Amino acid sequence: MDTCDFCAELSNFYNPSRRDVYQVQCPRCGEYFITREALVNLKNSTLSDRQRINISGWLNENKQFEINTNNLDNLLKIKTPSFHERADKILLEFERMTEYAGHFVQCFAETSEVFYGKPKSYLSVGYCLNSHEFKEILDFLKDTKRISFSNTNNKTCKITAGGWEHLEKLKKINADSQQGFVAMWFDTAMMEVYDKTISKGILDAGYKPHLVPDREHNDKIDDEIIAQIRRSRFVLADFTGHRGGVYYEAGFAKGLGIEVFWTCRKDDINNLHFDIRQYNCIDWMPDNLAEFKKRITLRIESVIGRGSYQQA
Ligand SMILES: [Zn+2]
Repeated sequence: MDTCDFCAELSNFYNPSRRDVYQVQCPRCGEYFITREALVNLKNSTLSDRQRINISGWLNENKQFEINTNNLDNLLKIKTPSFHERADKILLEFERMTEYAGHFVQCFAETSEVFYGKPKSYLSVGYCLNSHEFKEILDFLKDTKRISFSNTNNKTCKITAGGWEHLEKLKKINADSQQGFVAMWFDTAMMEVYDKTISKGILDAGYKPHLVPDREHNDKIDDEIIAQIRRSRFVLADFTGHRGGVYYEAGFAKGLGIEVFWTCRKDDINNLHFDIRQYNCIDWMPDNLAEFKKRITLRIESVIGRGSYQQA
């Protein structure tokens, strides 16, 4: 047993002989892998408590991730999700543990403020620095009538009618997903706009851009594309070039209730089909892509909130 470098919980460190990697089983962060080299770098660097806790939360969401010297820097840059997002994460965790509607699940040992067993991982689920912060989130869930505590003690809670309703809303729009599907014209100049601007704008908002590979050779809409749209948090559709596939993919997402962000090169915007123009399209100019990138990030953040995805 040794202490986890992120959350300081006692954890099991196994060293699989095949590689220079530790397998760590932490009661709070879950299972992750870390190379010896990354572990040395980590021990030599000064991390704030918030940085450690953000990594712990991220590892809990990305089970069995392998930390190495190449991705360690990105992990250090992980941002704290908003308070509301963290409350949603905790509520979703309660739902995962709920075996039947009305089931009281273990949440907190309020009297001693000590976590035991399963609740240890709640701190990571909610990106909480300590049990006080977790308690604030619990109180918020209670005040917004999404959970209620057991009458006999405060150690268990159940999801209430308001909670189920909120969960329903969250799922409709794939709130768990960190993926932003990009529908666009597969033209060489546009691919450059994707690489340097669109994908970056999505990453800056905390989401993972998804572009179907090799689309330039195959404009078909296949099952894989449909499946990817279904599991996305949103679709960014750029209408420059007015490809039929882009209209189809945006319409399909819209029909599922998935948020769609509409963009188009300014000189091409007047060719937009009338029904699309009403959706507050972001127009852009090739000579001011920095501005386009910023607008993508701001629009995503203002409509669905900042995501917690970090490139690793
Ligand atoms: Zn840990």
